[in-house]
Amino acid sequence: MSTITLAIHGGAGTILKEDMTSELERAYLTGLQNALDAGYAVLSKGGSAVNAVKAATVALEDNILFNAGRGSVFTKKGLQEMDAAIMEGSFLDAGAVAGVRNVRNPIELAMEVMQHSNHVFLSGKGANDFAIRQGIKLEPDEYFFSQFRYDQWKLVRDSDNYLLDHTRQEMEDLMRNRKFGTVGAVACDSNGNIAAATSTGGMTNKKYGRIGDSPLIGCGTYANNKTCAISCTGHGEPFIRAVAAYDVSCLMEYKGLNLQDAMDIVVNDKLVKLEGEGGMIGVDAKGNAALLFNSAGMYRGFKNSNGYSEVAIYK
Ligand code: ASP
Repeated sequence: MSTITLAIHGGAGTILKEDMTSELERAYLTGLQNALDAGYAVLSKGGSAVNAVKAATVALEDNILFNAGRGSVFTKKGLQEMDAAIMEGSFLDAGAVAGVRNVRNPIELAMEVMQHSNHVFLSGKGANDFAIRQGIKLEPDEYFFSQFRYDQWKLVRDSDNYLLDHTRQEMEDLMRNRKFGTVGAVACDSNGNIAAATSTGGMTNKKYGRIGDSPLIGCGTYANNKTCAISCTGHGEPFIRAVAAYDVSCLMEYKGLNLQDAMDIVVNDKLVKLEGEGGMIGVDAKGNAALLFNSAGMYRGFKNSNGYSEVAIYK
């Protein structure tokens, strides 16, 4: 029997203690703990890794503090367009959606794609049509609204390149708030099956239907029982160019590295060279876990059947 393990993240970035009130910090830690408990409850009852990562991700999507589901960031047009992916490591089954709107839990739609379509990846209106056909829960725009995300967007919405058009003070505030609030989970169940899930609103002020790494299998999300399950968070473009999640798997499969060492190379060397700020969480089929990031902080949590349980934010 494998060690039962669940790890979660709620995004990485310039998350500094001095920018945080104790109230907000407590709210984040409580949100992480609730998601960790929701996912771990599935595993401790003998449930599958894929159902555990879905349950943990749903809890984070429902929490307005995180940039996924409710509380997603705004696009250039002032809309919320969400991406999500889920993958399980025994058969390499996967499902993903991009640019979906009004879907309460995009990770449930990704799971639906995995289990009840002949496809892996659906986008935009087609994905929404599939959601309606499958009876996936929808919500009005107001449900997803967060004042904090709206204020963030207001700072940049009038420019294509906020770097040029904003005052120094605004710019500094903005950079200090460079938090990537994507959520994700990875798990190893008692049968040694592993799975990964990632869900996001993407990046504030994104346009032209921009899609990040999160829903791309092998980039932001990947799972293979032979190697690892990975969920990433950070500046999506470098993670795509690095094929980050699959690269960890390759380093394990072809070079024989362990999970921690493989993740360390990708997060602290390869991504850094591409200016890819962020992090990732991973598990292997023995239940080992690693949570690594090259940014100031990453909202994260980890719990296993050896009695270890922790939620944390800063380095
Ligand atoms: N990786 C996500 C994206 O680029 C953002 C994040 O992790 O917060 O869409």
